[in-house]
Amino acid sequence: MEKQFLIYNTLDRKKKVFEPIHPPLVGLYVCGPTVYGDPHLGHARPAITFDILFRYLTHLGYKVRYVRNITDVGHLENDADEGEDKVAKKARLEQVEPMEIVQYYLNRYRKAMDALNVLPPSIEPHASGHIIEQIQLVKDILEKGYAYESEGSVYFDVEKYNKDYHYGKLSGRNIEELLNTTRDLDGQQEKRNSVDFALWKKASLEHIMRWPSPWSDGFPGWHLECTAMSKKYLGETFDIHGGGMDLIFPHHECEIAQSVASTGHEGVRYWMHNNMITINGQKMGKSLGNFITLEEFFTGNHTILTQAYSPMTIRFFILQAQYRSTVDFSNEALQASEKGLSRLMEAYDNIKNLKTSQQSSADVKVLKTKCYEAMNDDLNTPIVISYLFEAAKIINSNIAGQTNLTQEDITELKSLFQLFLFDLLGMKDELKDGNASYDSFAKAIDMLLEMRMQAKANKDWATSDKIRNELTALGFEIKDTKDGFEWKLNK
Ligand code: ZN
Repeated sequence: MEKQFLIYNTLDRKKKVFEPIHPPLVGLYVCGPTVYGDPHLGHARPAITFDILFRYLTHLGYKVRYVRNITDVGHLENDADEGEDKVAKKARLEQVEPMEIVQYYLNRYRKAMDALNVLPPSIEPHASGHIIEQIQLVKDILEKGYAYESEGSVYFDVEKYNKDYHYGKLSGRNIEELLNTTRDLDGQQEKRNSVDFALWKKASLEHIMRWPSPWSDGFPGWHLECTAMSKKYLGETFDIHGGGMDLIFPHHECEIAQSVASTGHEGVRYWMHNNMITINGQKMGKSLGNFITLEEFFTGNHTILTQAYSPMTIRFFILQAQYRSTVDFSNEALQASEKGLSRLMEAYDNIKNLKTSQQSSADVKVLKTKCYEAMNDDLNTPIVISYLFEAAKIINSNIAGQTNLTQEDITELKSLFQLFLFDLLGMKDELKDGNASYDSFAKAIDMLLEMRMQAKANKDWATSDKIRNELTALGFEIKDTKDGFEWKLNK
């Protein structure tokens, strides 16, 4: 396998062959959640996208250090450095400690990610655990002359930075346009310019999350943590920085400015952004009544949902689009994904029933090559899935007696599913995986159906019908075959 992995870089809007700075090491930093509410679809997409990247790079033989931060301080209600801290506000409303909010929602976030089979990153640093590093970064930027102190707060001087470097290179915005569109909001008099952003904010009296600094008792600006923590764990220059497209501006633009201002050079080799999710064509938002948490998807407990959708259905659905395309959730689309996924799982299960021939009448080997080509093309997961459906078709056609397969073909099909469906796309059979009792369960059903066969042989129709009817009522589908029976459990 050649490592010709093409990665799209948001910075120059091109796909390029991925070349890490210090192979086989790869540094990957992804902006993680601000933990003040239940995890929702907006959390699932970046987590799954970068999970695929993490899995694939690891599969290619790289040693990936994957850092995904936890924002527990400094994320204010609006992007203009005003409003209450999101975590502190939730804590005030619930009358608990801010760190109780952080712990509670972080536990829920991890549980949901685990259900979605998202692998944990290598390091999950908290912003509040890196105040010293953030203060040092503010000092560095002040020393280089790209920040100024004002009333105990420190702001980044965007105009000055833009004279020496280029502010707006990632988002394609330019400073003149930004100056025209940013309104002078209340409380912005401290800033020289409305485009400047906070590196350190002096805490108001009621603000509880605060730390001492040379400028004031206060807290770091939201953009600061990622620059400080990526530098700490991945170095001044590292390979991939990821996140949702909604973070390109201002968050990632500000990260670039902070890193260039403090070190004099770019810190990130490839910027990678996943596109957004809409629900029935609309942006998801609390005010629109279409805000659905992951738990609500898993239980079906939301007015928009006509049924529950399992975590694997959600994962599969997200992977049916390339990460740079938008995804639109609807009940119909999710139901189609649910069916598609169970078709793949059934085909995989049926590999054990395939009939071998001396001669092959299907080209099975080409499927793996095609799947690799699709993964190498900037993680084109929908194409990988389409080849897995091809494989499922070949399996079904062999069972129907229409396609000949050699033993080698069968081994190849099995390894194709194992590698692409399970290891790389990270799908799992929700009924069987991690469920040690499934085997005993299946054996118990087999035993009941054997008793039914015995009853039929004894012409004990009452017992035979009772077993059949009661299993059917429980959702089992039972089929009599010439050598006995087959059964499956329909959800
Ligand atoms: Zn970030």
